[in-house]
Amino acid sequence: MKTHYLGHINATNPLKLKKPFVNEPCTKCDIFNICSSRCLYTNITKRWNPKAYSSVCDTVQNLIGAITKELSRIKKDHSTWKSMSERFRIHEV
Ligand code: SF4
Repeated sequence: MKTHYLGHINATNPLKLKKPFVNEPCTKCDIFNICSSRCLYTNITKRWNPKAYSSVCDTVQNLIGAITKELSRIKKDHSTWKSMSERFRIHEV
């Protein structure tokens, strides 16, 4: 596992981190532009069989589907929140 470590948060310069790259199936996936290999660990270590990997992908697809379905309401709520926070001078942290 340590071969996949990029560095230690206290000791590694963020500008000098190694760049991890993913391979298939993510690079051939229809939703890679949204997901970007959500489970980088899974893609790089290849410790899971295709069925288990697919289970991870199912969670991503379900999440994207649920968010897409609610996107207009989320945007509306965000807009409402923004106007309320400006009105009452509430600032997001
Ligand atoms: S859904 Fe699965 S295969 Fe597609 S990009 Fe995400 S992790 Fe990779």
